[in-house]
Amino acid sequence: MKFISTFSSLVFICLFCLSGTAQKTSKDFDLITLDDGVYAAIHKAGGRAICNAGIIDLGTETLVFDPFLSPYAAQELKRIISEMGLPPVKILVNSHFHNDHIRGNQVFDTAKIYSTLITKQLIETSEPREIADEKNYLPGMIAKYDSLLAALPAKDTLKRKQLTMMSDYFKTIKESHKILHTVLPNTIVRGMQTIYGKKQSLILIELGLGHTKSDLIMYLPQKRILFTGDLLFIQNHPWLGDGNLDSLKNSLLQLQTLDAVTLIPGHGPVGSMQDIKTLITYLDQVNETAQMQVDKGIKPEQLKEITIPETYTNWLLDEFYLPNIKFQMNHIIQKNNNRKK
Ligand SMILES: [Zn+2]
Repeated sequence: MKFISTFSSLVFICLFCLSGTAQKTSKDFDLITLDDGVYAAIHKAGGRAICNAGIIDLGTETLVFDPFLSPYAAQELKRIISEMGLPPVKILVNSHFHNDHIRGNQVFDTAKIYSTLITKQLIETSEPREIADEKNYLPGMIAKYDSLLAALPAKDTLKRKQLTMMSDYFKTIKESHKILHTVLPNTIVRGMQTIYGKKQSLILIELGLGHTKSDLIMYLPQKRILFTGDLLFIQNHPWLGDGNLDSLKNSLLQLQTLDAVTLIPGHGPVGSMQDIKTLITYLDQVNETAQMQVDKGIKPEQLKEITIPETYTNWLLDEFYLPNIKFQMNHIIQKNNNRKK
């Protein structure tokens, strides 16, 4: 939703709600109307979406941005799009190669699927290996989280939320294996590409190394709405392990130069430019903490635990914090070694 509290925009939003377009519900995600023909599908606790998706009514066709982890959740998305009376989904966008953003592709397999070339190559090489690995480790992971949840005191609601999120992730993958097959992107975005629609147009922008080796964002300049993929996490720890912290920070600084008002992160609720600042502060904090550990002569493999700063203790995906610190420690050590050569 645009964070404008003028009377006219409130009237517009209410009229929009009365029309019923924003009332469709799913156990996998919350559907949020951002503007006329622009929607965010935000992962719901206990659901199978895991990441957030975007739905854009282009006029004669519908575009879906990041169709979730589970094909079952993507089927839900397809059902709701149809119930909303939107045109058929003919365009799909994969912001990056991570499983939670691409595995709904198969539900829209007659669509044009846009991604960068690197993302397509990464999906092609990593998915068969990842799916095989998952089949090995899922039973153990599911049992681990089930027993942690069973042993948790009832009053520890935050930890329960954290563990449930991880448990949902692994259980969703296991269930999805029953029907999962990989559908690759078939349309490559190079640099910047405008997609023109009868109702509205949007821009896909390739941002290179950041959260992964290649990240793609989607911007609607007239509406000032930005779908960031996983360049932005809100109230969730980001995953740094497949990218580069400095490059991610640069990408976030580039996002700040856009005129966006409403930002839809890969994970977490709909936010604003302030959330970019918050994530940059987090990245600086991770870098400083990693540098301090390296300065103390600690090796990444020796670091078994680390206290999460109070500001971030309420963020979900807290299990990412320690690997993020270790990843950045390795990066700093490698940079130091290269300097010595
Ligand atoms: Zn990701």
